[in-house]
Amino acid sequence: MTEARMRTMVRTGTPTGRHAALRRRLLYAVRGYPVQPADRSGTGPAACTQQDRADKVRLCRSCGRKTRRGRHLMKIGGPGPGLRPPHRTQTAAGPPPGNIGGLSTALQNAVDKPLMPKFGNHVQIDIIEKGEVGGRLSTVEMEGKHYESGGSVIHPLNLHMKSFVKELGLNARSPNENLVGIYNGDEFVFQESEWFLVNIFKMIWNYGLNFLRMYMWVEDMMDKFMRIYRYQTFDFSFSSTESLLHAMGGNDFTTKVNVTIDEVLQKAGFSQRFIDEIVAPTMRVNYGQGVDVNGFVGAVSLAGTDSGLWAVEGGNNLVCTGLLYASKAQLVKGTVTSVQEKARPTKSGDTVKLYEVNYETDQGPSLGLYDIVIIATPLAKEITNIKFLDFDLPIEASKPYQQTVATFVHGQINASFFGYPKPSQFSVSEILTTDAPKLFINSIGTVSPVTPESESPKSSDTKVWKIFSPEPLTDEQLRLLFESYHAVIVKKWLAYPQYNPPEKLPPIILHHDIYYLNSIELAASAMEMCAISAKNIALLSYHRWYGQDGQIDQEDLAERLKSEL
Ligand SMILES: Cc1cc2nc3c(=O)[nH]c(=O)nc-3n(C[C@H](O)[C@H](O)[C@H](O)COP(=O)(O)OP(=O)(O)OC[C@H]3O[C@@H](n4cnc5c(N)ncnc54)[C@H](O)[C@@H]3O)c2cc1C
Repeated sequence: MTEARMRTMVRTGTPTGRHAALRRRLLYAVRGYPVQPADRSGTGPAACTQQDRADKVRLCRSCGRKTRRGRHLMKIGGPGPGLRPPHRTQTAAGPPPGNIGGLSTALQNAVDKPLMPKFGNHVQIDIIEKGEVGGRLSTVEMEGKHYESGGSVIHPLNLHMKSFVKELGLNARSPNENLVGIYNGDEFVFQESEWFLVNIFKMIWNYGLNFLRMYMWVEDMMDKFMRIYRYQTFDFSFSSTESLLHAMGGNDFTTKVNVTIDEVLQKAGFSQRFIDEIVAPTMRVNYGQGVDVNGFVGAVSLAGTDSGLWAVEGGNNLVCTGLLYASKAQLVKGTVTSVQEKARPTKSGDTVKLYEVNYETDQGPSLGLYDIVIIATPLAKEITNIKFLDFDLPIEASKPYQQTVATFVHGQINASFFGYPKPSQFSVSEILTTDAPKLFINSIGTVSPVTPESESPKSSDTKVWKIFSPEPLTDEQLRLLFESYHAVIVKKWLAYPQYNPPEKLPPIILHHDIYYLNSIELAASAMEMCAISAKNIALLSYHRWYGQDGQIDQEDLAERLKSEL
């Protein structure tokens, strides 16, 4: 008997009790929800104990059951064989932050559409967020227009993001069509032309068939990557990032995590010149790091060179606010400080284990009791400082994140800095850089507002440029890059993990019912990766709760499901 099944039996007793208890108790913390211990019995109101009073628990004014709010917030229960009559239950606060990871987990657990309801919409989800809804999906405002400052482009085959946008009634927009140049600190080593045939000629002249081979290499990886959607459609889940990667791409994917993209591509026969002049600039613009990132994130980054990239009209963070609304999750403004397992007695004399999530709000400290806690923020020390009082956080979960500074400048670029004395000859509008030590920027390119403008800007207009750099730019550096400028906005991010392969990936299951969504970022960080992880945790926590081991870590899924679709 597996651990998951044993725990379910111990906790919930009879099948009837199991369903009722789950509906009452399921909570999502670091994205979670708290419940009344006494509610678990389902046998009616229980008097408040001394502990309850200490926890500020009282009896609900509407149904007489225990609550921390004076009344229960949501109706639970509903039709289904062997279930107790519906009744109201209370939920308090719990945490998942209001970002793409937490909110897509919330959605995938709680609503009927667009994805399969797992725990169902009778379960209350609390999302505890210390900052803005959206997290690393955020815009900056410059002169009345908004620009993406964090996660900005989405691959056309990112099916979860596509589905969110469709179901939430949002629109996609195409980001700027920029002519790209690769700058090595002295000159452009590659420069795109407006003419398709000229580009083909330049690519073959400079790099032989490397571009074509890269296209095929990325295609092959995408074919394997897409398997995850089929697995998730059939409700399969994975208890570790390694097993998820293995199910998608076998040893090829798991090995890639442990070697650098440089090694992977060299082994695959790509030329060193192509790696230095095309691959390295792609890594620098996407991940602020060089070709020493792991091979899997490197491949994800190269997929970002595909055509058809898109973004959400109005801002990618609209997906987060939309998911918050659609999931009917409750947003709690607060900073989670600690999570601790607590045993609570039930009326029947049993004990039930719940997680006490402590958090700070503007009104002072608060807490919630939850069945399930999902941590949907990176656990790097500089990002969050949640204390887990029942276990030591594995070292790989608290690995540092890479600082990336996004600087927005409205101005006239200094073409001579890039070796063009005459600005009229300077046609590129997206400059990527090689790994040259003297360069103080990773990339610079023009951007358009998240809401398309009704009038296209005049060609003489100065443009808004977005610069990615490892450190904030000094005034002197800005003066080098721009002939003139009249507005500057700086946004500092701890953007993605610092990738140092080979390295252990953090666990998804941190404790019995504490899940870590951002574990997947150590393999590759991207919106879609977090959405995949969210869906995986929604399924995994559900299957583990019900002891459905046959839906977890299954081998040969690609083969088994071939005939199913
Ligand atoms: C500059 C930049 C460019 C990027 N470009 C792209 C791109 O083009 N395409 C792409 O796919 N991805 C891109 N990404 C990555 C992408 O944005 C992230 O992978 C994704 O948004 C992560 O989402 P998340 O929900 O997992 O985490 P986050 O968005 O980081 O959310 C974590 C949330 O947790 C909250 N939180 C933290 N600690 C606590 C606490 N103790 N209590 C309560 N709340 C807490 C935070 O306030 C935050 O809102 C980029 C990221 C950056 C920064």
